[in-house]
Amino acid sequence: MKPLKKRTLFLVLFLLLIACAFTATVLYARAGGAGGYSDSGGGSGGGEGIGYLIYILIRIIIELPFPLNIIVAGIIIAGFLIFSHITKKKVQQQTILNQLPTGDATKKAGGYDSFLKNNPDFNETSFKENVKSAFMWIQKAWEAQDISDVRKFISDGVYQRFNTQFKMMQLLKQKNTINNLEVKNLYIDRVESDGLFDIIHVAIHASIEDRFISELDARLNQGGKEEFVEYWSFLKKRGKPRKDIYQTDNCPNCGAPLPEHMGEVSKCEMCGTLTNSGEYDWVLSEITQANDYIGTHKKLQKSSELNEKIRNIINEDQDFSVQLLEDKASNGYLQIITSIALKEPAIMRRFVNDEVFQKISGLIGEDQVAYNRIYLNDVTLLGVSETEDTHILAISVRSSFQRIILKDGAVTIVDPAVISKTEVLLMSRDKNATASKGSLYTHNCPNCGAPAENSLDINCQYCGMPLNSTSSEWIITGLMSIAEYNDYVSDNASQFSYKVNPDLLDKLYDVRDFAFNNVMVVMAADGNFSEEEEEFMRELAQKWGYDINRIQPFFQMALNGQLVIRMPEDLKKQQKIFKMMEKAAAADSSISPEEQDLLDRMRMQYHL
Ligand SMILES: [Zn+2]
Ligand SMILES: [Zn+2]
Repeated sequence: MKPLKKRTLFLVLFLLLIACAFTATVLYARAGGAGGYSDSGGGSGGGEGIGYLIYILIRIIIELPFPLNIIVAGIIIAGFLIFSHITKKKVQQQTILNQLPTGDATKKAGGYDSFLKNNPDFNETSFKENVKSAFMWIQKAWEAQDISDVRKFISDGVYQRFNTQFKMMQLLKQKNTINNLEVKNLYIDRVESDGLFDIIHVAIHASIEDRFISELDARLNQGGKEEFVEYWSFLKKRGKPRKDIYQTDNCPNCGAPLPEHMGEVSKCEMCGTLTNSGEYDWVLSEITQANDYIGTHKKLQKSSELNEKIRNIINEDQDFSVQLLEDKASNGYLQIITSIALKEPAIMRRFVNDEVFQKISGLIGEDQVAYNRIYLNDVTLLGVSETEDTHILAISVRSSFQRIILKDGAVTIVDPAVISKTEVLLMSRDKNATASKGSLYTHNCPNCGAPAENSLDINCQYCGMPLNSTSSEWIITGLMSIAEYNDYVSDNASQFSYKVNPDLLDKLYDVRDFAFNNVMVVMAADGNFSEEEEEFMRELAQKWGYDINRIQPFFQMALNGQLVIRMPEDLKKQQKIFKMMEKAAAADSSISPEEQDLLDRMRMQYHL
């Protein structure tokens, strides 16, 4: 009798322990995964788990004899409380902002070992030296608003990022001066494999003093001292021997001197080779801010499997890579923005279809809408689909900008701060497309390779073919919001062979992170971050579970106008974020009129 009872007791205890662990796991997954914020009430999360726990407790109290039932129930409740406390703390610490880089090298760069296996000759020291030189040269080019010196090793998309910024800066009579530039550290953070290409993400920890000065309007002036970490991504074809394009101005293919002023195309005039194809040397293909970089979801990172899958679907040529397509999308998107700002629809005509052309032309109004700051934070392939004749790629583009209206040399500010927005581009190309003879995005006719100027006439002046034909080039056939894209996907679900949920784009930021980011932008809105405000933000950071040392860069970014208002697509989350922002702002007695104005405008902008 006795041994049996003991055994039963152990069995019951064992099962309960499993049940308890299970309950806790359910709670944990919801709290972390659902992105519920844990501080201000955290009302959501855990309903199911708690129900289950109560059920178990009732069963124990009814079915076990006294006093065993009370003892077991007590142990479970205590265990649950301890576990949920630890979990809550862990979830709090896990917040993405606590993962902001400090500038110290990561212990082990992801993917580096397998990269070295494929590239035994890789010389890390000389690679890093080139990255450092590239970094210094590009800052110089940026200051001079002339990118020709570095054109040979940057991708077309990166070129367009600079080019668009320069055009806007010219409109606003803006200069950006740079002083005391210093690289403090530089290390390889991650290596990705993308089709036949490798991509190395390099973290650069630097300090700088830069000032944006506009002759038109002093309200657009910004800048100061800052220390930051940025990620520069370089791409090169795997296994190809390196042919230097950094330390020489000669063509890596034929040795002829490269043209002094290369614009949209980085091409040798002698042999026609493109120096930035990744065939010869590492090509700068993306620059990402730390707060965007850490927010990239694993599922959205490039992988050779994804690339292989897509390559099979669209039966592309050997050189296909997701990164290069995203680069093309960036290029097109920025030219569309330029087209709107300069009120010149001819700039985008050649690479968009009629429907997109109508839609975007409709946005060009009487007023000249220019952009004070326009940059792409993140460009990501979201889906691959097909119709009977064409392949269609969906690519999301998140940009940050502040729009202003220019009229008779006077500036009216449209957006209260730099805000961000995500749109989706659809790019289509025929199945079994013929090989392109030049990129339309860099002003070459894909059919005959002749130069294609900005023009409303869509036929090539040499061969007469319509330039925006999907027969050999990816043409922009759709431009939509995330909500419109979600509708599009559900209407055409059967056509998709690959798709990721656009929610993943924001997934790693939870409600609290958005709110904290945005409160910080509000506090800095009057261009001054007083001691009280700084103290206030520190307290808020502590209260919301942020590691003060980790988020130090945030303070400087806010001060220099580099933090942007961020909002997820989800309306309910937007409301929660705004509530948290208002609560935080109300707790600070020193809200300035500018700051209040920003809050009010946000409420209007997001219909909150
Ligand atoms: Zn050449
Ligand atoms: Zn042509």
